[in-house]
Amino acid sequence: MEKRLHVITRIMVIILIVLIIVLAAVIFFKMKDTDKEKDDAKSTTDTEQAAETDSSVDNPTAMQAITDMQAGTVVDRAQVDPGMLDQYFVANEISDDIFQFIYGMSFVDNESIAREQLRYLKVLHFNYNHEVQVGELIVNVNIAEDVRNIFRELYEQEYEIQSMLLVDRFWTAEDNGASTDRNSIENNNTSAFFYRNIAGTDQLSNHAMGYAIDINPLQNPCVAYNEDGSFREIYTDMERYIDRANGEPHMIGHEDICYQIFAKYGFTWGGDWTDPIDYQHFEKNLG
Ligand SMILES: [Zn+2]
Repeated sequence: MEKRLHVITRIMVIILIVLIIVLAAVIFFKMKDTDKEKDDAKSTTDTEQAAETDSSVDNPTAMQAITDMQAGTVVDRAQVDPGMLDQYFVANEISDDIFQFIYGMSFVDNESIAREQLRYLKVLHFNYNHEVQVGELIVNVNIAEDVRNIFRELYEQEYEIQSMLLVDRFWTAEDNGASTDRNSIENNNTSAFFYRNIAGTDQLSNHAMGYAIDINPLQNPCVAYNEDGSFREIYTDMERYIDRANGEPHMIGHEDICYQIFAKYGFTWGGDWTDPIDYQHFEKNLG
């Protein structure tokens, strides 16, 4: 009796061991399968990603129509095809939409410049975070091609411009534009066309003809003095950038690639003037 019991116990122990081994084997293979599924899933994602990358190289749809992109939009640099830069720098006639927008603000009825003599540019530029951003600018048709090339070269040099929007986006509806100009400058906005007089005079500015462009105005102030010799503070923080050797970034000088590119296209620089010294200002008057 005792011996039979002993045999049964041994058989049960063996069965238990076999069960444990089988269970362990099942768990082991199950885990292996899960890992494989994960790998499969991962390689599928990789393949999909590779396919997406491939298709974006073949057909950069996301960046093709810069004319449809809102100025100020930050774009994914990977989407910009460096081999086809021309398509991101365009100069077009002033559309009805743009004209309706600027009419009564930067453009007013006048005898000096007509809508047909102006061009609306869409370009890419690097902002101060070194991200690629969409910019817009209105200039005279006679310099539109130069300006297009200048901004493409500035982009290729990864030159940083903080903001590049029409002055109309900073419109204050006060004092016929003087405070709008100030508002645009205080937002460090780069701009060109603006039908207005030279600040503080009754003489038409080259900006009114679309022949002048102001670049990064906060770091590149227009330095002028009052008759009593005191510094003419037109907007905030100007004095900070009067010392051109202070080493702050984004200041234009003869060593700066921005000056060199504008000069190459025959523009004169306000930084070379004596009164005022207008560090932000480039112009090419073909009127
Ligand atoms: Zn200017």
